[in-house]
Amino acid sequence: KESRDEKFQRQHMDPNTSTVTSGYCNQMMKRRNMTVGRCKPVNTFIHEPLPDVQAVCFQGNVPCKNGQPNCYQSSSKMRITDCRLKNGSKYPKCDYQTQQLQKSIIVACEGNPYVPVHFDGSM
Ligand code: UDP
Ligand code: UDP
Repeated sequence: KESRDEKFQRQHMDPNTSTVTSGYCNQMMKRRNMTVGRCKPVNTFIHEPLPDVQAVCFQGNVPCKNGQPNCYQSSSKMRITDCRLKNGSKYPKCDYQTQQLQKSIIVACEGNPYVPVHFDGSM
């Protein structure tokens, strides 16, 4: 079974892409199995090395959107791509807007080792 940190990596990690094209989200949301059963409405991919993203668990502690205390904000901006389902897109035709950004990310961390298991947002 897929572990929580494997799920985080499948949904949110794409270290080896630096230049993103307009079709990136349509391709990646499908390839990473986020268009199975429904179109996941919003999803962020992070284009930074895995160790740099794992290190965020030891950066600034912030409350999570759901009130849990285990969220952390990256001290540096990171290269990310936000994928947002376009208005009017209907399953099974999941049509996404692709937006490349440089922002500070917020992740939730759990476990031993203490690693990212949830993407909470960016600012
Ligand atoms: N998410 C993301 N990037 C964002 C915001 C949300 O990848 O900037 C993903 C993330 O996987 C999160 C999920 O969308 O777990 C649901 O987000 P949230 O709980 O904020 O949305 P809600 O379901 O409350 O509308
Ligand atoms: N989680 C957490 N803090 C939060 C939200 C989620 O620790 O604020 C944990 C939750 O317990 C679960 C894992 O993150 O084990 C994955 O949650 P979810 O599937 O909502 O995250 P996503 O993969 O959509 O980002």
